[in-house]
This record gives sequence, structure tokens and C-alpha cells, in this order.
Amino acid sequence: MTRQHIAVIGAGIIGVTTAFELALRGHQVTVLEKNQTCAEESSFANAGVISPGYVTPWASPSMPGRLLRECFSKNASFLMHFPNMEELQWLTQCWRASRAENYWLQRTALQRLALMSQARMKELSHLFRLEYEQVQGYNLVYRDAKSWAQAQLALPYLSSQGVPFELLTAEAMMDKEPALESSTTMAGAIHLPQDQVANCRQFAMAIRDEAEKLGVEFRFKTEVNSLDPSRPRQLVSGQEVMHFDATVVCAGTMTESILRDFKLKTGIMPVYGYSLTAMIKEPLDAPRCGLMDDKYKVTIVRQGNRVRVGGVMELGGRAKEHNGKAIKTLYKVLDDWFPKASDWSQQVQVWKGARAMIAKGTPLICQTPVPGVWLNAGHGSSGWALSCASAQLLAGMLEREVTPEQWPELTLR
Ligand SMILES: Cc1cc2nc3c(=O)[nH]c(=O)nc-3n(C[C@H](O)[C@H](O)[C@H](O)COP(=O)(O)OP(=O)(O)OC[C@H]3O[C@@H](n4cnc5c(N)ncnc54)[C@H](O)[C@@H]3O)c2cc1C
Repeated sequence: MTRQHIAVIGAGIIGVTTAFELALRGHQVTVLEKNQTCAEESSFANAGVISPGYVTPWASPSMPGRLLRECFSKNASFLMHFPNMEELQWLTQCWRASRAENYWLQRTALQRLALMSQARMKELSHLFRLEYEQVQGYNLVYRDAKSWAQAQLALPYLSSQGVPFELLTAEAMMDKEPALESSTTMAGAIHLPQDQVANCRQFAMAIRDEAEKLGVEFRFKTEVNSLDPSRPRQLVSGQEVMHFDATVVCAGTMTESILRDFKLKTGIMPVYGYSLTAMIKEPLDAPRCGLMDDKYKVTIVRQGNRVRVGGVMELGGRAKEHNGKAIKTLYKVLDDWFPKASDWSQQVQVWKGARAMIAKGTPLICQTPVPGVWLNAGHGSSGWALSCASAQLLAGMLEREVTPEQWPELTLR
């Protein structure tokens, strides 16, 4: 295909990997990012989990019941402010997406994408000798007999997808994670040996370096105005007018506002989440890899010499306002499983980020109805795990090697 000059809007993990894959195919790429550097928004301090065994749409068949229970829970994993009309519509879409037939279709697409992504990430790590605090293994922990029995119903599906797993008793789990608090009740756990935890931001920085070596230009502090569908080859930032052959919008939660004049609905909703990060006090008291507490949907992971706990879904509210109940839930889960991992009374990084969530769970990787304007956005809770394959697919679609029919779940409908 002929070399094009392509603009990528957004330098989160999705924009950086997209720019890299496009440059690798010989295109001239310019990344336009409003912040001072890359991975400053959702890709900044996420939980770091790369788990093809556990990428699931949030809207699952058990989601409606779970939400009702959460309303009466002291330590909630889902928080909702008084919803506006848009949020109510989004919740209705989630409810439709949670029907079993829709859920399994989307979950399979996500899993396919996640497995591809993991393979590409490993390839790039090997090729460029990248270090980004990778640790191997992820453990899903179930507190009570009911949730443990329910989790086991999905195991034949994991086998059919080629995802290896190991069932663990509470005692066997202690062997995997010796620092685990033994007094906290556990009915059982699933160990996913091929899944990983790693630092998304560090990987984004490393891929940015590799992209620059391929000639990608990163223009920071450059906020792009909403696109004009009658002039799709023109981008405007402040007083500056720029021209490109094509544009890929990788703007996370801000994607919808950039495309506001396109008369299309991406269905992307910002859903906030939190992470707390602190230095490990004594390595023997900290997690070795990653753990997900199924009841609270909270993850506790090791990131180099730090421990990070992340989770909670907050619909509505403000980006800069921290919700005390959310933070309390994270501390509770941490205290239940790894109480001595760090001294949480000092120097804790408290982070609130917004997931760009689409009700059905799969991202949008496709061309918009306006020729030359593409989308790679809406990766929800799994953007880090899906990033490398999403970038490859987008580049493949732009070059007509991959057709939308091959990935119908990723198109605008
Ligand atoms: C608490 C929490 C935990 C998470 N844990 C995990 C996890 O364990 N595993 C996982 O896979 N995923 C996880 N995620 C999700 C993951 O972080 C996101 O899916 C991913 O970071 C999205 O990347 P992105 O590049 O699409 O978005 P972002 O990282 O938000 O990047 C979008 C970029 O676009 C820029 N931008 C927007 N508008 C403009 C404009 N007009 N002009 C120029 N630039 C613009 C923004 O400044 C930003 O840098 C988590 C998310 C949260 C909140």
C-alpha cells in the first residue's frame, strides 16, 4: 500500500501501539497528545493485568443481580451517582448485552483479541528486550462456596479456548502466594499460569522510544479540536491547521466528543476506577504476582518493588473527586489478603482513572462512515491487555489486509 501521512489522536497505550504498528508498515505517523507525555490518563496507573483467561465483558449474565446486591453492600465494587439520561441509556444497553447469547459472543471476541495481543506483546518484548515489571501468573480467588461453584461452570469454556488453568485449594494457593493472609476465608482459586501482570505505562514509554526510532513524531501539549466531517483530512489545534491522509482516533473516553459532529454514537461511557500504590515493606510479605478477589472485583498486584491494589466501577461523579467508599473497599480487600505488604500510612499514590466503556464490552476498531477517519477506542477494563492486537488489527484494516467481516464485533453498529 502507498505510504500515507497518518495522524493518531491520543498517546495512551492504544495510541502509542497504533502509531508503532503503522510506522512499522512504512507510514509517516504523527501522534497528537494534549498532555505533556504519553500514558497520562487511563493508561497511567491501571492494575496492569494481562489476562486472556479473564477478559470478560462487564455486562455478564450475573451482572444485574450483582448490581442489586451492591446497592446494599458496605464495601461496594460498583458505585453509582444519581444517573442522568445518558447513563440510564447506557445501563439499559448493558442489561441487553448481559443476556447469555450476547455475552458469550463478546467474551469470545475479547478472548481472541487478548490472546493475539499477548503473543504480539511477547514478540515485541523479545525483539526490543523490553523490561516493564512483568511477572508471570494470575490467581482468581473465590471467598464462598457459591461463587466458587459458579466459577467452575466456566472452566470448560476456558479449556475450549486453549487457556491453561489449575484449580487450587486454599492450602495450595498459600504455596503460590506464601504472604497471603490465611485467616481470610477462601473456598478455592483458579491459577492462570500464562496470564501476567506488568506496568502498562512503562511499556507505553518503551514503545514510544521504538516508534520514534521508526520516525514517528510525537507532538505533546497539542489538543485536537473536534473533527469536521466535511474536512476529514484537516485537524485543528489552537490556531494551527494540519493536513493528513488519514486520522486514527485513540482518545479513550474523549473519543465521543472529538467525533461529536459525525452524527454517530460510539456508546463510550467513562466509568471511573481507582488504584493505590505503595512501596513494598518486606518482599516476603508482598504478592508474588497478581490476585483478583472475585467478590469485590479488586486486584492486588506486584509492580516491581511496589504493590498496587486496583478496582471499583464508579458511574457518574467527577474525575478529580475521590470517593471515600471506593478507597475504603480497596483498603479492605488489601487488608484481607496482604495486610503487611506495605506501610499504607505513608506515601501512597492514590489514582483515579476513567475506563472508556462500551456496554457490550468489545472495543471499536474500525473505519467511521467518514472515509479516512478511523477508530481504535472503547477498550473498557482491558485496554492494556488488548492493546498490541488492537494496534495490529487497526493497521491491517487501514491497509485492507483485515476486513471488518473478520471482526464484526469491533465495528460500529
Ligand atoms: C482502575 C483501573 C484499572 C484498570 N486495570 C486494567 C488492567 O488490569 N488491565 C487492562 O488491560 N486494563 C486495565 N484498565 C483499563 C486500561 O487502563 C484502559 O483500557 C487503557 O489504558 C485505555 O488506553 P487508551 O489509550 O484507549 O486511553 P488513555 O490512556 O486514556 O489515552 C487516551 C489519550 O488521548 C488523549 N486525548 C484525548 N482527547 C484528546 C484531544 N482532543 N487531543 C489530543 N489528545 C487527546 C488523552 O490525553 C489520553 O492521553 C484499567 C482501568 C482503570 C481505570
